[in-house]
Amino acid sequence: MIEKMREVKDIARGLIEFLDKSPVNFYAARTVSERLDAAGYVRIDPKDAWEIRPGGKYYMVKNDSAVFAVEVPANADPAAGFRIISAHSDSPTFRIKPNPEMVSDGGLVKLNVEVYGGPIFYTWFDRPLSIAGRVILRSDDPLHPRHELVRFDRPLLTIPHLAIHFNRAVNEGNRLSAQKDMLPVIGIIKEQAEADGLLVRMVAEAVGCEVSDILDFDLSLYDTTPACLVGMNEEFVSGGRLDDLSMVHAALEALLTAEGECPQMRVMAIFDNEETGSGTKQGAASPVLANMLRRVVESLGGGAEDFARSIANSFMVSADNAHAFHPNYAEKYDPTNHPVPGGGPVIKINARCKYMTDADSAGVFKAICEKAGVPCQMFVNHSDVPGGSTLGNILTAQMDLRGVDMGNALWAMHSVRETGSALDQAYTVEAFKTFFE
Ligand code: ZN
Repeated sequence: MIEKMREVKDIARGLIEFLDKSPVNFYAARTVSERLDAAGYVRIDPKDAWEIRPGGKYYMVKNDSAVFAVEVPANADPAAGFRIISAHSDSPTFRIKPNPEMVSDGGLVKLNVEVYGGPIFYTWFDRPLSIAGRVILRSDDPLHPRHELVRFDRPLLTIPHLAIHFNRAVNEGNRLSAQKDMLPVIGIIKEQAEADGLLVRMVAEAVGCEVSDILDFDLSLYDTTPACLVGMNEEFVSGGRLDDLSMVHAALEALLTAEGECPQMRVMAIFDNEETGSGTKQGAASPVLANMLRRVVESLGGGAEDFARSIANSFMVSADNAHAFHPNYAEKYDPTNHPVPGGGPVIKINARCKYMTDADSAGVFKAICEKAGVPCQMFVNHSDVPGGSTLGNILTAQMDLRGVDMGNALWAMHSVRETGSALDQAYTVEAFKTFFE
């Protein structure tokens, strides 16, 4: 189906634009919301009474960082079920602590940060970094402060590595401390008094508010280097946060371009906090999606029986990236199931049930790929490697859904810059579209 290279490049460039617009989870949610707005989706607020109509398209945002969209067919049957694609908005990074300024000799100001998720530390050194996230502003109502997003669109910090002359053994392995080695330098200030509150003053200026209006913030670091195509034939996409924004992008493209009437409701669920175990109100371990889907069924006139039937009729594609075969480390991979870049979307399966995939759901996804004219691959861990987990099996604690864990094959998962395949992105968009049709 995807033989036209121009189409592949268009999709890859769309992904690159999506990555650059989404430096942290909050901006990923905003980028998704803006695309949904432009496509005529109606934003619904969990605090309001919902009036979901057949033929309508709706979305809900949770905590500014998670987005859930549903498209209801014109002849909606409340018990018909959902076709769900889930992915996550967050990526490993360094989160700025409160009162972060630390001044050392020469007026060098560094910021105190802590680790979010599982970044590969040394990929963060010597990069032009910046700051993005959310700031919480005072309002008349203490229970409802105002929320603003903020990003400094310029290189603002760097985490300088120690010169090799101070550690000649650095290339033989170098243990890193999150508290000592990973603090970024933001500039030079001669007076301690000027350093105190520096970040909050910068945020106030960027947002256009008074310093005294700022109650708190959720701010993280990101690499300002834009994503790009790499390779002699531009085979690869190189960029930060491909895990899992490449799957968010593919889900969104599929939702917005799927054609015809699907007999079931199309659902896109972008959770936050997968990288820390999904245990927040906007994470996959919370009832946020189950509650939304139940309310949609009820608003369409369905009852508890209809909701239970709709769960039994549903299927979920839990989309999170997989590990691509690395030519320098063949011994790390399963001898017979090691997906390669460009080989198509990857079904992930695990005997300890770390993934929701079983033979039934893998079979469903293979049949979808076949219908889409897209190849697909299998990933199984090397039996001596424990491997990771993802959204699918966590969500099944909330809803007993049939579903598959899949994703595109990446190199350097959790590096500040990961590498995937342009062709795989196009394949996955096509497979997701077919699923929604
Ligand atoms: Zn992920």
